Amino acid sequence: MLVVKKFGGSSVGDPERIKRVARRVVEEHQKGNQVVVAVSAMGDTTDDLISLAKQVTNNPSEREMDMLLSTGEQISIALLSMAIRDLGSDVISLTGAQVGIYTDEVHTKAKILKIETERVQAELNENRVVVVAGFQGINPNNDITTLGRGGSDTTAVALAAALKADVCEIFTDVDGVYTADPRVVSEASKLSHISYDEMLELASLGAQVLHPRSVELAKQYGIPLHVRTSFNHNEGTIVEEAPNMENAPVVSGVAHDYNVAKIGLFDVPDEPGVAKKIFKALSSQRINVDMIIQSAMRNNMNDIGFTITQDDLRKALQTIEDIQAEVGFKGYTHDEDVAKVSIVGAGMISHPGVAADMFEALADEGINLEMITTSEIKVSCVIKRADTEKAVKALHNKFRLDDLEAAKHYYL
Ligand code: ADP
Ligand code: ASP
Ligand code: MG
Repeated sequence: MLVVKKFGGSSVGDPERIKRVARRVVEEHQKGNQVVVAVSAMGDTTDDLISLAKQVTNNPSEREMDMLLSTGEQISIALLSMAIRDLGSDVISLTGAQVGIYTDEVHTKAKILKIETERVQAELNENRVVVVAGFQGINPNNDITTLGRGGSDTTAVALAAALKADVCEIFTDVDGVYTADPRVVSEASKLSHISYDEMLELASLGAQVLHPRSVELAKQYGIPLHVRTSFNHNEGTIVEEAPNMENAPVVSGVAHDYNVAKIGLFDVPDEPGVAKKIFKALSSQRINVDMIIQSAMRNNMNDIGFTITQDDLRKALQTIEDIQAEVGFKGYTHDEDVAKVSIVGAGMISHPGVAADMFEALADEGINLEMITTSEIKVSCVIKRADTEKAVKALHNKFRLDDLEAAKHYYL
């Protein structure tokens, strides 16, 4: 059997934890299985490297950021491999470039395009454990790229797909996927199963536990993911094709995201092609726009508001400044003091009134909604940043997610 195991930053946060992970890997290898390990940087290393860069410049080049951040994972693959060898398994560490993890050119949020399997396969055939640096790849110019924060999950799933692994396990600091971030809602319930679609929404809406792209790849290649913790042997959560929809709660989770900034454009001329100019300019800078609202027209002028990630704010404001004269809007503002809260659930499609219940729960807490978007399986609201925890708890409570049996019967 070929097993891919991914260990996140907290699982390899210090030497003792690295040794514990090594024991877990060797246990699997000595059962006679082939083992590929994807690993993140130790603890807060990536954050520390980012703050180091910010002390040198407030406008670091994205290429050099990737050069810098990729070193975090290089430290952990070397240390983990040393610990594994000590326990008696043959092992080799490989960077993304050494494996042949090819990505597009987009520094700091590259997409994996292709993974060579020859080297890894050859090492596996020599009965070695292969320890691969997560979060990194190489672009067509042979430059190091990174996959976006949390991207080691995606390395693991992409390796599992390329190698046709039998199992892909994601080890983290919580023992599964919960109905909300357990650090915010202490009564959150652990889900034994969740569908790819719901997990993809939760991950995209801010639940850090899996990188959104990893869920997308898992769905595309039909790889079930087992999310569990390296701190014990409990069963975690299986992410797979829609399990039993009949029996699932209408709302299965609440997510929140602080990495949100809002931009407002005032007095935008009301004529064809204006939205195209604004959003083409942003996309050509590779800025992802999330929510968009356009206010009712007055005097042939509109207001347009949209959200992006805070990481892209500086670039977005520069772009807006550059196109202001051409597009002809009078002014713009931005606000970073916001966050997004969302509810997700595959059952929403067939239950009217879910959004209204969400708004009621937030209104009861006196929380103002600045923007709203909906899809068939989610509703999201932008609110004041300071209201986030209150909002998440209120929503979790409203839909009875502390008790999954009660949640299932909420709309019956
Ligand atoms: P790793 O370093 O292992 O990749 P992350 O910090 O990226 O770990 O992700 C794990 C964290 O995700 C948890 O500590 C938890 O606070 C957070 N989280 C957010 N939403 C959820 C959720 N719905 N279920 C479980 N964990 C969640
Ligand atoms: N080390 C990277 C980060 O902190 C990638 C990861 O942990 O998945 O975002
Ligand atoms: Mg992570």
